This record gives sequence, C-alpha cells and structure tokens, in this order.
Amino acid sequence: MKDDILHNLEIINQRIKNACKKAGRNVDEVKLLLATKTISAERIKIALENGQTLIAENKVQELKEKYADLKDTRHENHFIGHLQTNKIKDILKYDVNCVQSIDRFDLAEKLHQRLLLEGKTMNVLIQVNTSNEESKFGIHPDFTIDLVKKVAELDTLKIKGLMTIGLFSAETEKVRACFKLLKNLQQEIILQNIPNVEMNELSMGMSGDLETAIEEGSTIVRVGTAVFGARIYPDSYYWDEEKN
Ligand SMILES: *Cc1c(COP(=O)(O)O)cnc(C)c1O
Repeated sequence: MKDDILHNLEIINQRIKNACKKAGRNVDEVKLLLATKTISAERIKIALENGQTLIAENKVQELKEKYADLKDTRHENHFIGHLQTNKIKDILKYDVNCVQSIDRFDLAEKLHQRLLLEGKTMNVLIQVNTSNEESKFGIHPDFTIDLVKKVAELDTLKIKGLMTIGLFSAETEKVRACFKLLKNLQQEIILQNIPNVEMNELSMGMSGDLETAIEEGSTIVRVGTAVFGARIYPDSYYWDEEKN
C-alpha cells in the first residue's frame, strides 16, 4: 500500500514537471493538492509523511472523521466540495485553511458572519462552472466578477483566486476551453483592481487533465485517483515495474 502511494506520487510529480517544462513554467508555480475523498486517514498519512503537505476533502463528515488521526501530522487542509450553510460551523472547527468552493453570495455571507463571531479569517477561492453542465457546482462565468466584487466586501474572507472542475471529456480541446475561460476571468478580475482581492491562484486540473490545466496556467492541481487509486491507474510505467 505504501509503495503504491509513493510510486504514484512519483509519477504525478513527474507529470507535473513535464507539463511545466512543456509550458515553459517553473515547477514551483504549481502545487499538488491531494483530493482525499473516501481515502482513509492511514493512507493519507503515508502521503503526508512523504513530502506532501496539501490535502482537501469534499464532505464535512469526512473532514470530521479523519481530523483526530491527521491533526498531529503537519499539513494544510482545503475544502473543495459543495458546502451547505448549516455545515459552516464545522469547517471552522476542523482547521480548514481555504474554502475553494465559494459559489454563491449567501454562502460567503454566512461564512463571514461565523468568522466574525469567532474572530477569524479564511482564504477562499471562487468556484466557477466553466463547463456549462447543470450537474456541476460553481457560479456561471457571466456572474463571476459580480460575485467576486460582493465577496470582496466581506473582510474576513481573503479571496486568493478561482477554482473550476473542467469538462469530463476525452476531447482535450473542449477541456482546455474550460481552463482558458477560468484564466481569462482571472485576467479580467486583475484588471479591475478590486480591493481585498488577490488573484494568484487558479485551482484547476485533476488526475486526467492536469497537463492541459498546467499549460493554461493552473497553480493548484487537485489529484485523487492517480495517487490513491493505484490499481486502476492505466500507466504503462506502472505495469512495466510490476513485471520487474
Ligand atoms: C475528487 C475531486 C478531484 C480529484 O479527482 P481525480 O479525478 O480523482 O483526480 C478534484 N477536484 C474535486 C473538486 C474533486 O471532487
């Protein structure tokens, strides 16, 4: 189990490196975030004890279940799932450093109120629905700048950038269009010079499309199955090594 995870991390880091090289970017510009949904604390710990520092959950319930087991292993935890307003209190309890899935004002406002009460601040990303699929969460691209402006007025929330889940498709160019859209929105927002808004982070790219995302400017790739789902990872390098 340990060897699989470490081996997969090696492959992912190599993929990130290759993509950066191809895109003429410095590898330090791209952070690897491990999407740990359904993964046990024991397995997450293997990654954290071997150089990884950034993980993320989709559900408050899982955050809660793994909290005690992980809290003494140094790491940063982001939240990347759909957040219900009645779960905000819990997010603050379990040391989340950044909520990447702010996609509506109502959620931002309730989070702000809770943070005020507790005298805290929170890093956030605005999640954009770039694939135009009903099934995906995120604010519509046309309304993104307005949402950023409104959220920027809530001074406990520190906007650091944008997040998206690209289209699930084998057609690279369609996936690329999603990432380009996020990058363009970032550039437009930067031009508007909105107080209390930083736009350094673009969280985009997952196991299947991280190369495309890096080519389009991603600063955080969120990877789950390619690290923890070793047995289903169809990489020839992996199978070759099995034979050795
Ligand atoms: C699960 C998940 C990921 C990782 O997806 P993989 O395809 O397993 O790499 C990234 N982002 C979000 C929001 C996720 O829910």
